[in-house]
Amino acid sequence: MKHTKSIAAYEAAKRVIPGGVDSPVRAFKSVGGTPPFIERGDGGYLFDIDGNRYVDYVQSWGPLILGHCDPTVEAAVFETARRGLSFGAPTTLETELAEEIVSLFEAVEKVRFVNSGTEAVMSAIRLARGYTGRDDIVKFKGCYHGHSDSLLVQAGSGATTFGSPNSPGVPADFAKHTLLADYNNIESVKACFEASDNIACVVIEPIAGNMGLVPAEESFLQELRALCDTHGALLIFDEVMSGFRASLTGAQGLTSVRPDLVTLGKVIGGGMPVGAFGGRAEIMDKLSPDGPVYQAGTLSGNPVAMAAGLATVRQLRADGAVYEILQMRAERLVNGLKAAAEENGIALQVDVRGSMFGFFFNDKPVKNFDDALASDTERFAAFHRAMLDRGFYFACSQFETGFISTKTNDAMIDETIRNAKEVFGAL
Ligand SMILES: *Cc1c(COP(=O)(O)O)cnc(C)c1O
Repeated sequence: MKHTKSIAAYEAAKRVIPGGVDSPVRAFKSVGGTPPFIERGDGGYLFDIDGNRYVDYVQSWGPLILGHCDPTVEAAVFETARRGLSFGAPTTLETELAEEIVSLFEAVEKVRFVNSGTEAVMSAIRLARGYTGRDDIVKFKGCYHGHSDSLLVQAGSGATTFGSPNSPGVPADFAKHTLLADYNNIESVKACFEASDNIACVVIEPIAGNMGLVPAEESFLQELRALCDTHGALLIFDEVMSGFRASLTGAQGLTSVRPDLVTLGKVIGGGMPVGAFGGRAEIMDKLSPDGPVYQAGTLSGNPVAMAAGLATVRQLRADGAVYEILQMRAERLVNGLKAAAEENGIALQVDVRGSMFGFFFNDKPVKNFDDALASDTERFAAFHRAMLDRGFYFACSQFETGFISTKTNDAMIDETIRNAKEVFGAL
């Protein structure tokens, strides 16, 4: 497979864009090699500027559940764009998408749109702090909630409960308000509540997708809900990835636990930049202009983005069997990969939630970030490079989730497994 044009494009990009990319994972640092520069997508496929074709299991990191260039989504975008790209004034499209979300998510009575998942979680946390009058938050190691200051905190030395920033530029004074807990470990959350009586909220990916795919256990979520209630803290489900991915109602469709606030993104923009946060009216009404908690955005609720999101959500909603089919295909893929790996003496941990799939090169089940970190990342990198070279575009890190779209068919999946079998044999 030739990459001459991508290599030149990457060199040119690096001269004017830091690292040549606008989001770090795109640089392929953890797997090596040059990222293919993309020319176009078509259904389940990506095409790079060298003319190579790939089966796309990244789908823009989640949003494209209907695949590339879905005709209904494209038509909605073109028609809306013809009337103007942005007004900075209310449109009925915003209400229509809000109504879809409110009618699907039991925990959401009101919702506000923003431009990214980062902005959604950052705003939800400000609202939780404003509503409770408290400063501290609890997050889980290995969960990603965007790159805002108080959320860019993970496991430091692991010596303390209180977080230290994991990027220069985040003041320690901010990070100290972020307490860290271990995923699927309720004792670690109790320790946070013992360490601070100033906790505004606990934020969690109810199906973690940013340390690889690691679902929360039902009993853990139930205990988390109870702890938040006992201590008067809000529970925030960050469903930027799992919303409309794990099921039509996200992770919330798969658990009995109801959060106080929910964040969404990715699929609800259908490929356009959109985020949203919502919850009980009593909490959401604390937002400006009705309440004192300030939050705003020049392009928030952009009509073209709303149209893309609406066309996506309505199609998903109209097809009652869609998530079952997506899940069957995701299972077909990971079960095939697992069998192929095992034939070659390679241990693979696999899991699926709706259209989300994960696989770890690990001989033990993965329940939290430390388990995930014990995976064989070198073997993953070798697998990734070999599969890319054969035309299969997987996320370029062991710690990312993969995605099936409605355009990913059984033939593509079987081709993937056949190739993976040869790759595992050579690893
Ligand atoms: C992607 C993601 C975000 C951040 O969204 P951006 O649109 O990249 O800012 C936040 N939370 C979760 C769970 C995500 O997967």
